[in-house]
Amino acid sequence: MSGTVFIFGLVIGSFLNVVGLRVPARQSIIVPRSQCSVCSRPLSLLELIPVISYICLKGTCRTCHTPISPLYPLIELSTALLFAAAFSIFNDLLSLITAWITIALLMIIIVSDIAYMVIPNKVLIAFAGVYIAIWFFLPGPLKADALAGAALSTFVLVPVAICFAGGIGGGDIKLFLLLGFIFGWESFLLLFTLSVWLAGAAGSIGLAAGKIKRGQPFPFGPFIAAASLLTLFYGDFLIHTYLALFQ
Ligand SMILES: [Zn+2]
Repeated sequence: MSGTVFIFGLVIGSFLNVVGLRVPARQSIIVPRSQCSVCSRPLSLLELIPVISYICLKGTCRTCHTPISPLYPLIELSTALLFAAAFSIFNDLLSLITAWITIALLMIIIVSDIAYMVIPNKVLIAFAGVYIAIWFFLPGPLKADALAGAALSTFVLVPVAICFAGGIGGGDIKLFLLLGFIFGWESFLLLFTLSVWLAGAAGSIGLAAGKIKRGQPFPFGPFIAAASLLTLFYGDFLIHTYLALFQ
């Protein structure tokens, strides 16, 4: 069964790449079929097979030999692994579906933010609609937690947006607000802290290694996504370990 879920994840991952690349460019996510972004040759059926096609083509377009970003097979592979991991961890259907939808959202954010430094509003609005629909099916305590998370994320993010205007993108702020609603208040605090730590650590390493210059903007979305995934899979463990320090 995990194998089937893995393959399902690969196919979904391939679609998430398309969404992440086309929505910010205002293109349809259904037509045309995927094509090489340089020579515009439509991809053959074999070239549409996730990950394997990338390996067979050795990471370049067959016609114009332009290198294909390794980000795309990585997104496909990560989606597949995370879908399978969620399948083995989340026992009830609602938690599993919510986890899969959250993984899908985060993968799209990674692609869009790395490719264009944009977190598309359309994606956030579409997923917000889905989560609001899911919210109606949640048990009472989780319903309240989602609202508390949304309230807390607003309370934390509005001052951040005002104090660091320009330092943090509008898309990042809207994503955090949505994540507050999805994860609930405790997990939101964890993922917010982890996002800032991960981006801070990567920024410091980038500066020290001379890869980025001081003040140069870099996409925050992938760090928010990584922090959210850590929280999705290890949140309870991390929160309990942290709280145990004070007992
Ligand atoms: Zn090409």
